[in-house]
Amino acid sequence: MRNSITELFQIEYPIIQGGMIWCSGWELASAVSNAGGLGLIGAGSMYPEILKSHIIKCKSATDKPFGVNLPLLYPDIDKHISIIIEEKVPIVFTSAGNPGKYTSFLKNNGITVVHVIANLKFAKKAEEAGVDALVAEGFEAGGHNGREETTTMSLVPLIRKHTNIPLIAAGGIGTGQAMAAALCLGADAVQVGSRFVATNESSAHQNFKNSVIKAGDGSTELTLKELTPVRLLKNNFYNKVQELYQKDASDEELAELLGRGRAKKGMFEGDLDDGELEIGQVAAQINELIPAKQVVNELMSDCRKTLSERNNLFNN
Ligand code: NDP
Ligand code: NDP
Repeated sequence: MRNSITELFQIEYPIIQGGMIWCSGWELASAVSNAGGLGLIGAGSMYPEILKSHIIKCKSATDKPFGVNLPLLYPDIDKHISIIIEEKVPIVFTSAGNPGKYTSFLKNNGITVVHVIANLKFAKKAEEAGVDALVAEGFEAGGHNGREETTTMSLVPLIRKHTNIPLIAAGGIGTGQAMAAALCLGADAVQVGSRFVATNESSAHQNFKNSVIKAGDGSTELTLKELTPVRLLKNNFYNKVQELYQKDASDEELAELLGRGRAKKGMFEGDLDDGELEIGQVAAQINELIPAKQVVNELMSDCRKTLSERNNLFNN
């Protein structure tokens, strides 16, 4: 399949695997790239030397293009960028920060740059900064997210209308039906996170994968907007956050409860009670652990089937 995104990344299918802290190491990224999508290593939870080793392993596991997701608020960002350039990673997805700061530098080093946004203001800023494509991530998405609560259904057409570069839709997309819907809204490709957490190749702890499979309707909430808004599974840690809200706690008290390394504790070490378990609303539709390649294949075949069935809707 050829369109602006498959051409930009030199990939077979318009499916990007979201770069997720603690869940998307080299194994997942290379499996998705080998399956014809674009795999991303989530650098946000990696110390520079760890990122380097994941890039090296990814290069030996696939000869297809892959990328790195780099949250711009990461403390060692300059070291990460040096490693990305040294190791000749072809594609970088930046998020959580100002795209004006690093886009030209990365592009001058031959890297394709994509920026993740959750509102129109940042979409325009990213386009002005010269990024090659945008990810428009809606309210349904897991993990860190925008404060505006704009859903994917509302965000994607808005961004499509007001920007002129290739567009990737994210948030709530874990099936071929949702992928078809996103393409109908004007996206050129989809970015899928949560569905790839529950795969054999994801580096998430088995306990976390199991809890994603068990999650149902209403199991997640976007919370902690005062600090960094995050959609997570409701667990003991979430309940403690809600108790603080009921007491009108200050931002400092919330930050103290959050502490350091909660996400690692939950998603990588498997502490389901006290860890932060970042996942999207689409978890309610995920019922089994499958290989990443199967996710890519099912997304493509169900998307094609849906588009063709819907096309017949008005012909009868
Ligand atoms: P491997 O499966 O080869 O290695 C797993 C590594 O993770 C081992 O070194 C193991 O240490 C370590 N590990 C296992 N469980 C934990 C835990 N609960 N807390 C901390 N470390 C743990 O994967 P890679 O070769 O891909 O991993 C290389 C490095 O990257 C590791 O240091 C790992 O922690 C890190 N990593 C980071 C990810 C992220 O998103 N930030 C994702 C995946 C890995 P031991 O041998 O002592 O058990
Ligand atoms: P915390 O401050 O609670 O903890 C930092 C975690 O990141 C620790 O688990 C630590 O591992 C690991 N880490 C990896 N590299 C470094 C480093 N250079 N310095 C310090 N810690 C490092 O952060 P969170 O777990 O809440 O968030 C983790 C990361 O997620 C953030 O560093 C940020 O990059 C990213 N993030 C992304 C966003 C986005 O993309 N929208 C928004 C917000 C955060 P260890 O325990 O082994 O020391």
